[in-house]
Amino acid sequence: MKYSILFTALLSGSFFIAQAQQVQQAKPEDTETWEPIPKVVTPGATFKDAPSDAVILFDGKNLDEWVQVSDQSPAKWDIKGDVLTVNKNYGNIETKRKFTNYQLHLEWRVPATITGTGQARGNSGVFLASLGKGDAGYELQVLDSYNNKTYVNGMAGSIYKQAIPLANPGRKPGEWQTYDVVWTAPTFNEDGSLKTPAKVTVFFNGVLVENDYTLSGPTLYIGKPVYKAHGAAPIKLQAHGDKSEPLSFRNIWVREL
Ligand code: MG
Repeated sequence: MKYSILFTALLSGSFFIAQAQQVQQAKPEDTETWEPIPKVVTPGATFKDAPSDAVILFDGKNLDEWVQVSDQSPAKWDIKGDVLTVNKNYGNIETKRKFTNYQLHLEWRVPATITGTGQARGNSGVFLASLGKGDAGYELQVLDSYNNKTYVNGMAGSIYKQAIPLANPGRKPGEWQTYDVVWTAPTFNEDGSLKTPAKVTVFFNGVLVENDYTLSGPTLYIGKPVYKAHGAAPIKLQAHGDKSEPLSFRNIWVREL
């Protein structure tokens, strides 16, 4: 018995010596990675400004990147200065381009003179992947959430009817607000079944409100979401049918990932 304990002790001792020798032989260079080399991107002057590799979706000049969702005709929302304002007569607009995974920046403003309550107060939305006409797609809610009570999974910064924002950093009506979004599109198997769900991270006025949230499917006004296979999709902005004054957007850019 004694001998076997001694033998085990000797064995484990030599094991630790061998391990120590291995650590001694390791070099700092062993854990250095030299490629692939990240591409050079010139950042914007501030975090709100588009980096050099961004696709500019709206910079105040025109709506060339956008169409009306209903008939794919040129987008007819109103431009004044560098500001785009929802025109409820024409309905939702979406990008001509289709995207899969991306980083998106946009700014929105509820009119200072907003009226209405709950969901009927500065309601719009960013559909992170538009899945066709109307409100089909995955909606990041836009709403006046400054002293405006509503269901919490319908506040600004929510994934509508799915994810409650982690905080409410909403500014007063009349002030510009920012969304910075990282969207990971869902993937599907060849038979149409879900392979990996969509994920989203959202900073609202620089505050994290959705942290790598896993979506259970596209947004539904009524009922539980269900995934349906799709590919790359446009980004869509909502012209909500409520009677409150239309809100505005500016400085919209996207980086494909
Ligand atoms: Mg909405």
